[in-house]
Amino acid sequence: MKKIIKCGSFFSAVDQNVQKNVAVVVEDNIISQVVPANTVDTAGAEVIDLSDKFVMPGLIDGHLHVGMNGEPDSMAEFPFLKTGDVAYRAMRYVERDLMAGFTTIRCEGDFGYVDISLRDAIQKGLCVGPRMQCSGIAISSTGGHGDFHFNPDVSGGEFAAICNSPDAARAATRATFKHGADQVKLMATGGVMSKGDEPGACEMTFEEMKACCEVAKFRGRTSSAHAHGAEGIKNAIRAGITSIEHGMLIDDEGIDMLVEYGTYLVPTIIAAYRIVEFGKAAGIPDYAVEKAQICLENHAAHLKTMVKKGVKIAFGTDTGTPYSKHGDQAFEFQLMVQAGIPAAYCLQAATKVNAEMIKREKELGTIEPGKLADIVAFDGNPIEDGMKSMMNCCFVMKDGVVYKG
Ligand SMILES: [Zn+2]
Repeated sequence: MKKIIKCGSFFSAVDQNVQKNVAVVVEDNIISQVVPANTVDTAGAEVIDLSDKFVMPGLIDGHLHVGMNGEPDSMAEFPFLKTGDVAYRAMRYVERDLMAGFTTIRCEGDFGYVDISLRDAIQKGLCVGPRMQCSGIAISSTGGHGDFHFNPDVSGGEFAAICNSPDAARAATRATFKHGADQVKLMATGGVMSKGDEPGACEMTFEEMKACCEVAKFRGRTSSAHAHGAEGIKNAIRAGITSIEHGMLIDDEGIDMLVEYGTYLVPTIIAAYRIVEFGKAAGIPDYAVEKAQICLENHAAHLKTMVKKGVKIAFGTDTGTPYSKHGDQAFEFQLMVQAGIPAAYCLQAATKVNAEMIKREKELGTIEPGKLADIVAFDGNPIEDGMKSMMNCCFVMKDGVVYKG
């Protein structure tokens, strides 16, 4: 059936302009026309009146974890988790992402491949959620950011494949694709929530990451690297990674390399922000709060330079980490603007730029004829009234189906 959405304020994300009184025509799950509202023929169509709303493409969260939901120290339970338990709760969490306007999410490493099963269940209509771009389990090294939570006498493997050579990393990447992953996630450096490692320290070698990126490239897939420290970031960029996640301790050379190689940077400011905001009193481990504080201070300065130098900044939230809950992640927009990223660009980062990053720009990321009908709306104009408006999602259409509003 034909649906016509009347949009008061309209942000196509093709450029940074906001247009007034536009009609979007949706036939089945495809956008067929974008025309001035007063010229559209409504005969025989269902009319959806959003003439007092801000309408834009469905949001894409470029970095989150479906199995966690802001627990102060979720890693502590990892050794005892059962995959089925994670899968059931993940099913509820992603529904909240969709209702907040995130019609697509990129899962950056989840327990026991639950993201892949959930993606397929949503596609089959067994449950409701966003479209999902999945990593399955991440690739890490012994004692690395994906292995830290296990007793050294017990082998891990549920949260990350543990590899210590290029051959092992290559095999693990092939295995994640065999499980149905859309991309591969690498743990290039230490992290904030991992006990006993340093965000600045390299954990996977250049050769190991190169082997993984090569496998992804052969198959036309993308890759991402959790990377804080400057050397680990540069190793990952040289290895051919699609995106650097966090990147909080980057240096000037690393920033120049992001531009030179066209590598995306997913800043996930909210993750460190929430850890520092809630702190030790809220049950977050001391070491994590201390590391997040250092990362956050460095990040603020670097983001200003990245904007100036034209780095491709994408939108991602690391939702699932302490006090970052599914459905609340649009707060990242406010933090991005505070960091000096222009408001209209932030909206493009979460739509057009992210669609390009996950190589789905032919079908997602903008409202244009021929694209999939992922369309959302908000109360208030985020560009004029401030990014707080992005917390007020009032309409969600995914693949031509209305889920909210
Ligand atoms: Zn993450």
